[in-house]
Amino acid sequence: VNVAERIDYVFKVVVIGDSAVGKTQILSRFAKNEFCFDSKSTIGVEFQTRTVTISGKLIKAQIWDTAGQERYRAVTSAYYRGALGAMVVYDITKRQSFDHVARWIEELRAHADTSIVIMLIGNKADLLDRRAVRTEDAVEFAEDQGLFFSETSALTGENVETAFFKILQQIHSVV
Ligand code: GDP
Ligand code: MG
Repeated sequence: VNVAERIDYVFKVVVIGDSAVGKTQILSRFAKNEFCFDSKSTIGVEFQTRTVTISGKLIKAQIWDTAGQERYRAVTSAYYRGALGAMVVYDITKRQSFDHVARWIEELRAHADTSIVIMLIGNKADLLDRRAVRTEDAVEFAEDQGLFFSETSALTGENVETAFFKILQQIHSVV
């Protein structure tokens, strides 16, 4: 049986956040269970897919990656179009990337559908000795803004799968 014919839903999820926080690696970890040590910064908008089963439904997650547009805040509204979920990623070792999260959320509120499910991700959780953002601060911010929250490591894979399943489950429960 051709899996494509049995897909129940395609869920578009966008990944945003400052450059170098690990967005592309999180995607690769989820889509291919890979971590690439010499990854080049992404060029051109791309997405990766993975099909998962949630509550007996076959769901194709289409995860979009920004393409070095982060620095210029040039992510276009086309990128957000049709997105049902968003992961806003910061690096737990880079305070500035967390301080910029509010701006990324503003971008989302301006361009994305109001019902979009948003998850805040503190990545590079393997670098505990270089932590610059306390978990409690992120939890508080997420609660204030009504976001789901998780700390992940694309390097070790910690929580990456769980975070994607959480957002996909949440989207599924509202479609
Ligand atoms: P992007 O610009 O947000 O797409 O970031 P990348 O995915 O290209 O990652 C930027 C850098 O951070 C690369 O050198 C990655 O190897 C590294 N990196 C990404 N995720 C992790 C992680 O979870 N732990 C550690 N230690 N390094 C990571
Ligand atoms: Mg990238």
